[in-house]
Formats: sequence, structure tokens, C-alpha cells
Amino acid sequence: MIRIKTEDQIRLMAESGKVVGAILHDLADVIRPGVTTMDIDRFVTERIRAEGMVPTFKGYGGFPANVCVSVDEELVHGIPSEDRVLAEGSIVSVDIGATHKGWVSDAARTYFVGDVDEEKRRLVAVCRESFFVCLAHCRVGSRLTDIGHAVQGCVEAAGFSVVLDYVGHGVGSKMHESPQVKNYGEAGKGPKLMRGMALAIEPMINAGTADVHTLDDGWTVVTDDGKPAAHYENTVIITDGDPLVITLDERDR
Ligand code: MG
Repeated sequence: MIRIKTEDQIRLMAESGKVVGAILHDLADVIRPGVTTMDIDRFVTERIRAEGMVPTFKGYGGFPANVCVSVDEELVHGIPSEDRVLAEGSIVSVDIGATHKGWVSDAARTYFVGDVDEEKRRLVAVCRESFFVCLAHCRVGSRLTDIGHAVQGCVEAAGFSVVLDYVGHGVGSKMHESPQVKNYGEAGKGPKLMRGMALAIEPMINAGTADVHTLDDGWTVVTDDGKPAAHYENTVIITDGDPLVITLDERDR
């Protein structure tokens, strides 16, 4: 069952999404060579707490940190560390959630660390683009799988691969709610989108093979071929008109 959010619930989610979007915007100025992945965790956590909100990921399923920070061939769920120093030429994905009066928003971006090669630049750009392509389908009357179909078309046309093992999700009073939002598949299937649905839509794409595995730390998901991966996510509310992208800062539109 897909839970439909009330206006009040959407307002609380949007308040949290505004904070998340601003933090993700400001992170672009924080991330540079020499910064550790734990520095990113601290920056994000302080900003979330300063707003009286709670970092959603800490302890979620046992996750040991506040934020997921994934470098280069790491796709998602990287664990921040004081020992992990970002180097020139890397890309780094940061996934954050903030809980506000019980309501969650969830979003991610991939950043450049200093000067980055052309393939990585294109990978990150295509990942973001695939989100905006699928956003055109986030409307009343579309079917759920129209979203993933659009993501896959965009990513594969660019010569990259969509990860099959991880998917987006409904979001609300819990971080992960029904339905799963795949980044692939046939169009025109699944439930019709309705006003008040809240979806965390998150293309996860790889430069090489779609195949990924989890490291011995039990969390960090990496590409099988060691080629880079990118992640772009926003929490999206379906309305009677244009979708509300509640985690997208105005400066990033
Ligand atoms: Mg997320």
C-alpha cells in the first residue's frame, strides 16, 4: 500500500527537504582535496541538528554514521572515516536524510573533488539529467514504472549502466516506504501516481558494468569492475500539477 500524505505531512516533509537541499548545495564548497569523509559527516550533521532535526540514517538498520559518503567506485552506503582523505580527481556521493517532527526527506548528490576527468564529469551529469528526465513522468496519471523506464533510457543512451540491485522508494514517516521505485524496466506498469504520494527517486549509475557487491564492512556497495559510480536523489511529492522536488535548493535548479 502506498501511503498518501496529508497537506500537513507534506508541509513537514518540505521543511526538512528545504534544509537537506541547502546542505547539499553548500557541500559543493566544502568538498575539496584533503577533506576527509568524516568532515563531510560532521558538516552535514551539525547543519541538520542546528535546525532541530535528526540525521535519519544514524542507526538505520545498524548504519554506524549519520551520512553515507561513497567515493569513486563506491556506489552507495559508504561509511565516513577520519582516515579517508579525498584526493584530487575523485568523485564523491553524499546521501543524507533529515527527520523533522517524525517526517523524513532523503536526497543525494555526487560532487567533484578538484579537477575530475571527462568520463567522471559526464557520468555525474548524466546521473543528474536522468532524474530530471524522469521527473516529467512524476504526475497524476503516469504509472510508477514510467519513472524507471525514463531513467534507464537516458542513462543507457549515454553509454552508462543502471544499477539493478538498488532502487528508490516511497518516503514519509519512515525512510523506506512502499513502493520500490526502480531505475529500469518497462513503461506503463504498476500503480498510477496519485496526488500526495512521496517518492525518493534516486538514479544510481555506473560507468562500466551494472554489477555491484558489498564490501566486508557490511555496508559499502562497490562496482564489480572498479569503475566509478554516481548517485543523484531527491524526494518528490506528486501533486495535481508539477511535482514538488522538496530537496532541491533553488540555487541548484
Ligand atoms: Mg537517500
